Amino acid sequence: MIQTCDSPNSNGSPFISIKEAVAKMLAQITQVKGKDNLALSEGLGRVLADDIISPIDVPPADNSAMDGYALDYQELSKQRSLKMVGTALAGQPYLQTLLPGQCVRIMTGALIPKGANAVVMQENTLADGNNIEFKQLPSKGNSVRQAGEDIQRSQIVVTKGTQLKAAHLALIASVGVAQIRVTPKLKVGLIATGDELTPPGQKLVSGAIYESNRVALNALLADFPVDVVDLGIVKDDKPSLRDAFRQADKNCDLVISCGGVSVGEADYVKDILSELGTINFWKVAIKPGKPFAFGKLSNAWFCGLPGNPVSSYVTFQQLVTPVLQKLSGQTYLPAPHFVAKAACLIRKRPGRADYQRGIYYRDENAELWVKPNGKQGSGIMSSIANANCYMVLEQDAADVQEGESVNIQPF
Ligand code: AMP
Ligand code: MG
Repeated sequence: MIQTCDSPNSNGSPFISIKEAVAKMLAQITQVKGKDNLALSEGLGRVLADDIISPIDVPPADNSAMDGYALDYQELSKQRSLKMVGTALAGQPYLQTLLPGQCVRIMTGALIPKGANAVVMQENTLADGNNIEFKQLPSKGNSVRQAGEDIQRSQIVVTKGTQLKAAHLALIASVGVAQIRVTPKLKVGLIATGDELTPPGQKLVSGAIYESNRVALNALLADFPVDVVDLGIVKDDKPSLRDAFRQADKNCDLVISCGGVSVGEADYVKDILSELGTINFWKVAIKPGKPFAFGKLSNAWFCGLPGNPVSSYVTFQQLVTPVLQKLSGQTYLPAPHFVAKAACLIRKRPGRADYQRGIYYRDENAELWVKPNGKQGSGIMSSIANANCYMVLEQDAADVQEGESVNIQPF
């Protein structure tokens, strides 16, 4: 069933805010069920299904933070020189207990021998054969990395819902865990619609344009734990659209289409979607963007993006990202924003949140400035490609005067 939202807002506006749109979508969808067991080395980009709990202390035992000499710090209140009786290397400990008057040559990462409780770095010593004179009086624990000072046994090291980056993998490896449980990869269908769309590399006939949204969306999807089912370019005719949406619905958790969701131009898409499920057509108060469809086909969730390249890019980032995060069990992390000063007048009409493409930079006083990156039309991809941030202008905001504060979202 098709649901158009002509007046979906409590204030009677034909637009719904980005916040409302995201809240409505998140209220409906649930995480895709199941868990996969994986070798840690396969985990990059996947979302943890369970907390990782450390089975050990890290470091597992007291060890040296320096190359130098291990000793009992109290010995140096009696004498300034100690006798070196052996060497401790990382992985090759000194196994005897230090006696009064003794010290041990020790390297970074080597276990602190029994009887020692401090390390003096080499630079603060004078060696005369095995006789070591100490120029520094250390306190207890000097240059010693204590057992468990990084991580304690039974501590949660990475929480469920984290999308694993390189540093998380290293942290999990450092507690000795080799197998992890992650949420299943999402299957995401991708459909571009439009009779005018021509794949790059082919000859362009009159009235046609090159299709560019799928390559962008595929690349943006690479940041998520997904397998993309790319259904290509679908002509604006009912049987082809029906086939493509049916196939995507059957095989995917989420289907993303671009093009054909503006009012009046999308009758075929609308008809087909109404056969296959329950879809809302919203006017979201976002610029570039505005027309956006969301709902459920018979099996898969559905997001319909506008066809204009900048609009589809921006709506993917602002509206589809939270959907992908929730479906994959990822903890929601809002994109970081900073405040910069407008380097010039920034034109903005109240009514829609505007994601203008900008360039931020620091001046010689380290102050952060931002300026629009050229023309801001919803089809002008160079406005994004050569920019380094969005200038996020709130829904109700008007023109921003030179020198006023602007929220920026770096790319
Ligand atoms: P639509 O949303 O279908 O009305 O399309 C809006 C504009 O975006 C039109 O100028 C289309 O030619 C263009 N467009 C639609 N889909 C794509 C695409 N996949 N790649 C590049 N441009 C597109
Ligand atoms: Mg179209």
